[in-house]
Amino acid sequence: MAKILCVLYDDPVGGLPLEYPRDTIPVIGSYPGGQTTPTPSGIDFTPGHMLGSVSGELGLRHFLEGAGHTLVVTSDKDGPDSRFERELIDADVVISQPFWPAYLTAERIEKAPNLKLAVTAGIGSDHVDLQAAAAHGVTVAEVTYSNSISVSEHVVMMILALVRNYIPSYGWVVRGGWNIADCVDRSYDLEGMAVGTVAAGRIGTAVLRRLKPFGVELHYTDRHRLPEDVESELGLTFHDSTEAMVPVCDVVTINAPLYPGTEGLFDDKLIGTMKRGAYLVNTARGKICNTEAVVRALESGRLAGYAGDVWFPQPAPEDHPWRTMPHHGMTPHISGTSLSAQARYAAGTREILECFFEGRPIRDEYLIVDGGRLAGTGAHSYGEGNATAGSEEASRFKRG
Ligand code: NDP
Repeated sequence: MAKILCVLYDDPVGGLPLEYPRDTIPVIGSYPGGQTTPTPSGIDFTPGHMLGSVSGELGLRHFLEGAGHTLVVTSDKDGPDSRFERELIDADVVISQPFWPAYLTAERIEKAPNLKLAVTAGIGSDHVDLQAAAAHGVTVAEVTYSNSISVSEHVVMMILALVRNYIPSYGWVVRGGWNIADCVDRSYDLEGMAVGTVAAGRIGTAVLRRLKPFGVELHYTDRHRLPEDVESELGLTFHDSTEAMVPVCDVVTINAPLYPGTEGLFDDKLIGTMKRGAYLVNTARGKICNTEAVVRALESGRLAGYAGDVWFPQPAPEDHPWRTMPHHGMTPHISGTSLSAQARYAAGTREILECFFEGRPIRDEYLIVDGGRLAGTGAHSYGEGNATAGSEEASRFKRG
């Protein structure tokens, strides 16, 4: 029987909601392109309820304990005295989320001789040292597509919020003001602007599709070019590198995975080639942008705004400069964990566990590392190496 160690974010401050604003969530059966939503043999939760926080347990306890396994759920993940570090020693399976990542560094993998499977309840497995996982024969899997559309909606929201200066305007209302000029002195229309995405995978393409009706010029760069019919349907301009794309864009959205090839991509040099007053939205991973370069660009006016929901490390310490830099629209890492998304990634996590315990193949699209190498989606979208360096800084976060 296996020990499953599951790290989830904290419950709401007042405990799990007693009721929710809506009674149901829409039933989504498949994603664009035809991939089906998760197909576990059953679920023991109510879709639309909180599953991603500690007490939600991803709806897994009944299923796992019914099969004789041990489930440990904790949010205490950082530092050598954390429950995660203590429980890891004899864990067979680790489940973690990008929102509240249990960083699985090489040192931690070394301390977990039984570890066979690391599941990301969501998308993005850069919190795992993929190189070390491969070397130790640990399979890494994530619930591909489960929250891609959720993130694309957040990206569109953040682009509009920055360009139209929504957040400061809301602030004037809350403070009792009617300061129209103060609200609009940084407010523009998105119409007519050039918007480019770094990567046109599941999220990037969904962002492009959602932006088309806004009457913008659409640009993209990716390692593989999209089919010609998609390019012409959306009126896309392809650039063969990020460096070639960003100087022509008013808005840039980052939708590539984090791996050594994308770490620190947006540094002073690259941001310095962007138009004065460009907007940058990063919901991919914090480490793709150099922290201080973003702050400098906002202070100098090179960037008119920066938004996103991804930071490094996570959770971000209280003194993280992105909390206080000017003209930002940051949220904590929430875009992929709406109540709608939680139902899908919880079901997908269960599907992966069922495959693992029954010795059935995990869907290729869910695999990141398998058989000692990048596999499935991992082989297509990631690059070799490790992007967890510096993650011990997450232990500086203090709960409010
Ligand atoms: P996909 O795998 O569908 O797409 C990733 C795309 O990135 C692929 O098309 C890949 O290219 C491309 N790519 C990789 N390296 C580069 C590069 N150097 N330059 C340009 N393009 C590149 O993933 P998703 O769209 O579903 O997710 C993307 C990322 O978004 C995830 O890896 C994760 O980090 C983040 N994410 C964030 C969430 C949040 O809550 N904020 C939730 C979900 C995901 P190709 O395959 O063509 O080689």
